[in-house]
Amino acid sequence: MRNFALLLFAVLSSLVSWGCLPEAGKNNLVHLAGWGGGKPEEIVPLAADTGFDEIIVWSNDPAYLNMLVEWGNKFNLGIYSSLSLSHVDRFKKRFPGSEPPLQAMNEKETAALQRIKEDKSFGKSSYQYGGEPVGETEVLTSPLLCLHCPETLAYFKAEIGDILTAAPGLTGMAFDYFGYQNYRCCRCEQSAKLLAEWREKHPEITAEKAEEAFSLETLVEFNNQLAAYARSVKPDVKIATHVYPVFLPEPLYGNRLDVDYCGQTAAWFFEPFWSMGKITEYSRIITRDEKKYFPRGEGVAMIGVYVESKAHPVKNAERVRLELQAIAAGGADRVQVCSMNHVLKDEAVRQVFKEFFGGKGNK
Ligand SMILES: [Zn+2]
Repeated sequence: MRNFALLLFAVLSSLVSWGCLPEAGKNNLVHLAGWGGGKPEEIVPLAADTGFDEIIVWSNDPAYLNMLVEWGNKFNLGIYSSLSLSHVDRFKKRFPGSEPPLQAMNEKETAALQRIKEDKSFGKSSYQYGGEPVGETEVLTSPLLCLHCPETLAYFKAEIGDILTAAPGLTGMAFDYFGYQNYRCCRCEQSAKLLAEWREKHPEITAEKAEEAFSLETLVEFNNQLAAYARSVKPDVKIATHVYPVFLPEPLYGNRLDVDYCGQTAAWFFEPFWSMGKITEYSRIITRDEKKYFPRGEGVAMIGVYVESKAHPVKNAERVRLELQAIAAGGADRVQVCSMNHVLKDEAVRQVFKEFFGGKGNK
C-alpha cells in the first residue's frame, strides 16, 4: 500500500512537472495575441492590463493603424494589420472595373452554401463557420478570392507594400481566411488549369490525391510568397497567421508556412465545444512540430471566444479557464484569441486571461 502511495505521488509529480496538470497561477503560457479592433484609447490600455502582447486588426487605414501603433508603443503592445482572402471589397476598391477572381465550388457545395445561409435556427444546426465540420457538407459562407489567380497575388503585394510604407511602426502583417471556401480546393477555371498542369508533372498520383496535394502545395506557396514579399519590403517585419478556414485533408499544416507566428486552432468557438483531450492534443502538436520545416516558426494555439451571441451558444469564464488549462497542458507557450473584444468586454473572462497572461514581466 505504501509503495502504491509512493508510486501515485511520483506519477502525479511527473504530471505536474511535464505540464499536464498546470498549477493555478503558474503555467507555460507567456505570450498572447488578440484578433479584434476598436478605439485605440479604449482597447489598448485594457488589453495591456489583461496580458495581451499583440493586437491584430483587419484595417488597412493608415491613420487608424498609426494611431493604434502610437497607443501600442505606450503600452508595449505590437500591432499587426491583417489581410484576408475575404477582402473582396478591398480588391474592388484597388482595382475598380476589374472583376474579383472568386473561388468556385461544385453543385453539392453550392447547395450546402444555400442550406447553411437559409438555416436561421439557434446554433445553425452545429454549423462550424470554417472550423472542423461536425455534420454534413459544410462550406464557408463568405466568398473568397482565388489564390491561384495572379490578380489576387498582385492585389496582396500591393496591399502589403502600401500598408508597411504608410504605417512603418507596425510590428507586422497577419494573414487570415487564407484557405478554400469548400475546405479542400478551388474549382474555378484558372485553378482547374493549374491542377491539370500539376497532374502532368505527377502522373503517378491519383486524381483525388493530386487535387489534395496541389491544393495544399499552392496554398502553402501563396502564404510563403507573400511572407517573403513582406520581408522584402521591411526586413524585420513579423508575419502572424491563423490557419483558417480548415483544410480538411490536413488540418494542422501550419508548420509548413514560413511565417513567424503560426496560429492553429486548439479550441474552436462553437458547440459541440472541443473535448479537453482534443484541445491538449492539438496544442501539443502545434507546439511540438512548430519548427519541423522552418526555423523561424513559432506555433501558436488559437482559442475562439465569444461571450455573447444571438445566433449560437457561447463560452463562459469557467469554460475558458478549462480550455486555457488544456492548452497549457499541451505545452503551448503562445496563444491567439479571437475575439479579443469579447474577452475585454466580459470582466470574468478577462480576469481568466489575466490570471494566465498578466503580470509575468512581459510588459
Ligand atoms: Zn480558383
